[in-house]
Amino acid sequence: MIATGATPNGLSFIPCPAEIVEKRPETRGIYTFRLRVRDEAKRAAFRFRPGQFNMVYAFGVGEVPISIASDPDDPELLDHTIRIVGNVTGVLERLKVGDMVGLRGPYGSWWPVEEARGRDVVVITGGLGCAPVVSVISYVVKRRASFGALRILHGVKAPDQLLYRERFDVWRNHPRTRVYLTADRPDKNWRYRIGVVTNLFDELEVDPTAVVMMCGPEGMMRAASAHLFKSGVPAERVYVSVERNMKCAVGLCGHCQMGSEFVCKTGPVFRYDVIRHWFNHPGV
Ligand SMILES: Cc1cc2nc3c(=O)[nH]c(=O)nc-3n(C[C@H](O)[C@H](O)[C@H](O)COP(=O)(O)OP(=O)(O)OC[C@H]3O[C@@H](n4cnc5c(N)ncnc54)[C@H](O)[C@@H]3O)c2cc1C
Repeated sequence: MIATGATPNGLSFIPCPAEIVEKRPETRGIYTFRLRVRDEAKRAAFRFRPGQFNMVYAFGVGEVPISIASDPDDPELLDHTIRIVGNVTGVLERLKVGDMVGLRGPYGSWWPVEEARGRDVVVITGGLGCAPVVSVISYVVKRRASFGALRILHGVKAPDQLLYRERFDVWRNHPRTRVYLTADRPDKNWRYRIGVVTNLFDELEVDPTAVVMMCGPEGMMRAASAHLFKSGVPAERVYVSVERNMKCAVGLCGHCQMGSEFVCKTGPVFRYDVIRHWFNHPGV
C-alpha cells in the first residue's frame, strides 16, 4: 500500500509522490505513464494483483482511478495507460518526464488467477478495456505451464485505436496462445477481422470449463456473456471489470455504488453472477 494516514479499516488517503520516468504516447489522446514511487521503502513494499487500480493525483487538481497496466512481478515501476478525457487527465497530459504525481493504492479486487490455474483462459476486451488485462496476461504468459490455452480477443473501433500493438505480437508467439483482433472500421492495412468483438466467437470454441475475463464497453460485455453462456460457460466463471466514477476508492463517498456493490471495494472485477442483477440494468 503506497500511502500514509490509515483509515480505521486500514486503508489510506494520503497520496505518495511518484516520478514520471517515462511517458509513451500510445494512440491519439492516450499515453502510458511509467511511475516510480519516490520513497524507497514504500516502493520496495508495494505489491499489486492483476486487475487492481491506483488513484493517480494531479497535484492541486484531483485524483482519478487508473488500472495498473504493468507486470505484477515488477512492482517498482508502475505503468498506467491514460485516456485524456477531462479535468484531471487533461492536466496529466501536460506533465513531462521528471514531473511528479501523487499515487495511492492498490485498490479493488483482482482477476481470478488462482481459480484459472490449470484451465483455459479467455480474455475479451474492447477499446481501452485492454489496459486492465495487461497485467493478468503478463502473469499468465510468465507462468505458461500452469494454465491451459490462452485466448485473447480484442476489438477496436478503428485500427488507429489499437493500443499495445507490439505486445499483442509478442503474446501471440507464446505456446498455446492465440490473439484475435477485430476492427469495426478497418483501413486498407488492417489484416485481421472486421466487425465487433463478438463476431470472433465463430472462430474459436470456448471450453465450458474456461475462466473468462472481460473489460470494455458494458454493451460489449453483456453481448459477449450471452455468447459464452450459450457455449456452456457458467456465469460463475465469467468475470467483468467495470468502471464507475469514484472519488475516495475506499467505499465511503458512494459515487461508484452499483446497487449493493461498491466498484472500488468489491470491484472493479466482479464475478458475473454476483453483479448480474445490476449489470443488466444499464445506467445503474
Ligand atoms: C477502476 C477503474 C479503473 C480505470 N482505469 C482506467 C485506465 O486504466 N485508463 C483510463 O484512461 N481510464 C481509466 N478509468 C477511467 C478514469 O478514471 C476516468 O476517465 C477519469 O476519472 C476521468 O477523469 P477526468 O477528471 O479527466 O475527467 P472528468 O472531468 O471527470 O470528465 C470525464 C468525462 O466523464 C464525464 N463524467 C465525469 N463525471 C461524471 C459523472 N459523475 N457521471 C457521468 N459522467 C461523468 C464527463 O462529462 C466527461 O465526459 C478507470 C476507472 C475506474 C473506476
